[in-house]
Amino acid sequence: MRFDPRLRRLPVLCLFACLTAQAQPNSSKEIAVHAGRLIDVRSGQVTKDAYVVIEGERIKAVVTSAPKGDAVIDMSQYTIVPGLIDCHAHILSNPTTQAAGSYLMTSAPQATVRGVANLQIWLSHGFTAVRDAGEEYPSYPQFALREGVAKGLITGPRIVAAGSFVSVTGGHGDADLLSPDKPGLGQPNTVDTVDDVSRIVRRDIKYGADWIKLMATGGVMDPISDYRVQELSEDQMARAVEVAHRAGRKVMAHAEGTVGIKAAVRAGVDSIEHGTLLDDEGAQMMSQRGTWLVPTLYCFQHDIETGLSKGRDPRSMDKGIEIVKQQGPAFKLALKYHLKIAYGVDDADVDESVSKEFGALVRGGMTPLEALQAATINSATLLSLDKDMGTIEPGKYADLVAVSGDPLSDITVMEHVSWVMKGGTVVKPLAK
Ligand SMILES: [Zn+2]
Repeated sequence: MRFDPRLRRLPVLCLFACLTAQAQPNSSKEIAVHAGRLIDVRSGQVTKDAYVVIEGERIKAVVTSAPKGDAVIDMSQYTIVPGLIDCHAHILSNPTTQAAGSYLMTSAPQATVRGVANLQIWLSHGFTAVRDAGEEYPSYPQFALREGVAKGLITGPRIVAAGSFVSVTGGHGDADLLSPDKPGLGQPNTVDTVDDVSRIVRRDIKYGADWIKLMATGGVMDPISDYRVQELSEDQMARAVEVAHRAGRKVMAHAEGTVGIKAAVRAGVDSIEHGTLLDDEGAQMMSQRGTWLVPTLYCFQHDIETGLSKGRDPRSMDKGIEIVKQQGPAFKLALKYHLKIAYGVDDADVDESVSKEFGALVRGGMTPLEALQAATINSATLLSLDKDMGTIEPGKYADLVAVSGDPLSDITVMEHVSWVMKGGTVVKPLAK
């Protein structure tokens, strides 16, 4: 993880703490959350009437009787699970349009404001962290939003962010849809040689990328690429991995077609995104190497329902209809080989749909507990946040989500989050 700018204030805080320690030995306020049912997402074990004791922004203890003297938040009618994590978010997306040229008509400031609004959607659905899976703007608004949340300037989930879509010219991440007789956009993210890859990966890192996002194959939402076709070469992806890992960053690869998935895995990427045409050999390779899968099942299904209603290009729609037939068998293979799977939404229609991947994972063959693990402990591990997030345990952030009912018997209750706490602060109160 990157250096936390808040640590710069540490000497000042220590000095303040030293000066006040004698006068107020118990100055940090403790509260407790009374959970009607508390789910241990590691084991699936449920504890009735548990109390999560919180000091500041972190969990101090989990006990089974009310701690004396603490203010208690009554969640006795609810099931409490850890804060959720979406590993495939595009926080600058505009949920009102799927038009291919919308990027060309949206400024970075407009996208940033949209991002602030989108972050509230994730937070109110219980997501206390997201990984931005890459954006088109060379000025990296996603990094500004990450810093805004970390400094408390805006509310939102904690953000781990990829930089550009590293893509070949004319590939899935080439946002320049203008005709050849128009001046090109000159986007820095289109790379056609191995050395070009070094340059854009270093640019992403220079300006603050936690992750590098590669376009290993074509995709669905753009009108021009072929999702079955490998785009970046294996050498290009291997270079990206070498440069990123040397700098302590991880690499995620958008990979739908079978050949591109395997090339990305051989190149050493940390996670395969979508994996929609995964075959037996590819699944076996991922299992052997410990490569993660973020399957993003629901967005493909949902985009079929949305159809052309949001200005989607019919060429993209045709691809969507074809590819959605492949995802079921591929996901079954992922389960058969026990791949490490994390939760990802990847839907421009962020409203409503952010919680619906849970249902898609279970319909695809996961147990409700496995789906819950995908969005908590698994996602936290993939993002190297597992020391701070992913379970309800002492020392971790007090990120808690309350739902009515039992997600272990009906996962769709996760679509109706009643209450959210992030870092010891209630960010979504119960409706009155
Ligand atoms: Zn995506």
